[in-house]
Order: sequence, then structure tokens, then C-alpha cells
Amino acid sequence: MSSLYIGLAILLIAIVLFFISGRQRRAAGLPGGRVVYTDTRTWGAVEKPLFDVQLGLTGKPDYLVEQNGKLIPVEVKTGRTPEAPYDSHIFQVAVYCYLIQKTYGKRPPHGILHYPKRDFAVDYTPELESALLDLLAEIRRDEHRSDVERSHDDEQRCHHCGFRNGCDQKLA
Ligand code: SF4
Repeated sequence: MSSLYIGLAILLIAIVLFFISGRQRRAAGLPGGRVVYTDTRTWGAVEKPLFDVQLGLTGKPDYLVEQNGKLIPVEVKTGRTPEAPYDSHIFQVAVYCYLIQKTYGKRPPHGILHYPKRDFAVDYTPELESALLDLLAEIRRDEHRSDVERSHDDEQRCHHCGFRNGCDQKLA
């Protein structure tokens, strides 16, 4: 597997999660995340990206935690701590849960989103997995489109967006 292919896969996921996640959550009723306490001393670094050949999906959580024989992915986010996890972050955790199940044969019950002031557990429910697979199918469908529409009205999001220079739909 070439590094170019992996790079493209990561980019693909990042871009499309960014564009589509808001719509998907409304449609699928995704879990919002439970506030939890996590002990950072139990976090272990992940050495290499996880990869699923079937879906051509790859990703690397920031940390893994072992709890009761299960592996839990931890994703660390900087910046503002939201009242509830962002949709794109929920899908990112779902990708890691999916990849962990495929790689290690054990289904994580949840993943953890670590924001500066709060941690959330995002349950990896069958509904979330199904929404993720729908999203990936949508990604493949829209992969070559150049006219994907903006899915939000959040000026701040555009302001901090890494794609704003090339985006004809940016706000502000
Ligand atoms: S600039 Fe705004 S509309 Fe364009 S990709 Fe970024 S967040 Fe989306």
C-alpha cells in the first residue's frame, strides 16, 4: 500500500466528514456523547495507522485505552470545548471504532473525545456504525463531484477552515 494512497484516503475522509456530517446526524439520530472522567495515565500511544482493505479506510486515533479486555480509541481535540461533541468528531470516533473492530476483532463499546475542559464517551451503537457506512457510501458517490454544497451557516467554521482559500462557498 503506497503512502500516497493512504494519504488520499485520510484526506478523503476528512473532507467529506467535514461537508456531510451535519446532515447525517440529523438523519440518523446519532449519539450525542456522555460526559465522562478519563485517567490519562491509562492512555497508550498508537504506533501505526489502522487500515481496512475492504473499505479502503484508514485512520489513527491519538491513543488507545484497554478497558475490560476492550480497546477504546481516544481522540484529543484542542480549541473550544463544545457543550456536545461536534458531528464530525463523532464520525471520526466511529471510524476508529470500526477500524479497531476490523483490526483486532473486538468491538469497542464506545470511543472517547477529549476536549480541553471535558471528555465525552461516544457509544459505538449499531445505528452509529450504520450511519458511518451510509456516509462512506455517500463519500464514494460524491468523490468526483466539484459542486458539493456547504452544509452549515457557521462563519467561525469557515474562518478556521483549512479549505477556505479554495472554497467558493465560504462565509465571511
Ligand atoms: S470555507 Fe466554509 S464552506 Fe468552505 S469548506 Fe470551509 S467550512 Fe466549508
